[in-house]
Amino acid sequence: MTTNAPRIVILGGGHAGANAVASLRQAGHDGEIVMISDESVLPYHRPPLSKAYLKGGSTLEALYLRPAKFYDTNNIEVLLDARATGIDTARKIVTLADGREIAWELLILATGSVARRLDGPGADLDGVHVLRDIKDAEALHARIGEGSRLVIIGAGYIGLEVAASARDLGAEVTILEREPRILSRVACEELSGFFHRFHADRGVVFRTGVSVAALHGEKGEVCSVELSDGEVLPCDAVLVGIGGSPCDALAIGAGLKCDNGVIVDLAGRSSIPGIYAIGDMTRRPMPHYGDRMFRLESVPNAVDQARAVAADIMGKPLPAPDLPWFWSDQYELKLQIAGVPFDADRQIVRHTPDKENSFSIFHMSGDRVVAVEAVNAAGDFVAGKKLIMAAQPVDIAKLSDPSIAAKTLLATSGD
Ligand SMILES: Cc1cc2nc3c(=O)[nH]c(=O)nc-3n(C[C@H](O)[C@H](O)[C@H](O)COP(=O)(O)OP(=O)(O)OC[C@H]3O[C@@H](n4cnc5c(N)ncnc54)[C@H](O)[C@@H]3O)c2cc1C
Repeated sequence: MTTNAPRIVILGGGHAGANAVASLRQAGHDGEIVMISDESVLPYHRPPLSKAYLKGGSTLEALYLRPAKFYDTNNIEVLLDARATGIDTARKIVTLADGREIAWELLILATGSVARRLDGPGADLDGVHVLRDIKDAEALHARIGEGSRLVIIGAGYIGLEVAASARDLGAEVTILEREPRILSRVACEELSGFFHRFHADRGVVFRTGVSVAALHGEKGEVCSVELSDGEVLPCDAVLVGIGGSPCDALAIGAGLKCDNGVIVDLAGRSSIPGIYAIGDMTRRPMPHYGDRMFRLESVPNAVDQARAVAADIMGKPLPAPDLPWFWSDQYELKLQIAGVPFDADRQIVRHTPDKENSFSIFHMSGDRVVAVEAVNAAGDFVAGKKLIMAAQPVDIAKLSDPSIAAKTLLATSGD
């Protein structure tokens, strides 16, 4: 390759890494790009792992973020099954577990996050799963079927999505949650109450305000979960869905500034020149929310940061940062969330007329929308996102009236 463009190494082949590859080529980078991944398959969509793929309704090829020929056509060197074990910032080298040394001129870290595991008795028995990658999904799928008993520890989005998929497959599902309500860290009470009832109506058993004392096994296989009050729940499999931690050990070892994730600016620049970081592993500013720093685990965030890094490397203006947003699919429900309800002082709930299980919750700070949660209400989600970005006062009486389409309020908010 005859070019003066820098050789770029991307460490991590997930949503952020693969989008960085594509954004760099789209932005005109014609230098060498090497993508290093410790997985054995090309970058793929992770969200279906708790949804369609877990149910057996999708193939691996359908999960690929881009077809194999994309990497050939765009002259991307992809190293699979290649685990990085060190970053030498002085020599500008990534070291792999097999001893290879990969040189870079610019380095983009995109190692994502890791699922937290239980510690305590029985945590490493067979049949105790986490769900982060395709191998996890395949192992869990093999344990779920008609009449099998699945205990899910943690009622966050991944736990609830797996519960919905497992019920669709005919499994008996019990969800254990330490907090008094489900989704307590990530959704308001109204929304968590709705999802609790919806799952319970479909046969999911919830135990909130409980903690796990031990997992018990027979011949190395998990067979029950013991709660701290001594109750024992028999099971055939356990999913631990208690959140994730940033995969930032290599970054810490390399001396990058980290604090629950690699600290980056809006362009994805870390504290060391020439090293960028993107995706789940980062903590980033979000201009819509003042000086606060965010570690977001979502596909839109990974895509947003990948675009920003490519623009910065190519000397182009940074794209306007998107709001934090997220979605979750459970049964026939599509939940979409935009914004974060910091400083919210009231909520407005809009039930879509004549449509069951369709509503939205607008979180207000005074007369401004700061976040929206929408269930089967895509129109309210899109309008809510625009209202948040506009940061203009809205007519509360109109927003409270579900017969008035939320998008019509955009005109009065100056959009
Ligand atoms: C089951 C599941 C369901 C989800 N559902 C949704 C959803 O509905 N909506 C949504 O917005 N988000 C969802 N997410 C979150 C979303 O998938 C992540 O936010 C997104 O994948 C982040 O992209 P990333 O590139 O930062 O990390 P990842 O996609 O995790 O990619 C990181 C990659 O780096 C590799 N890696 C790590 N360390 C090394 C190393 N030392 N050497 C080489 N390679 C390494 C990892 O193996 C991995 O391939 C879900 C996640 C999971 C697990």
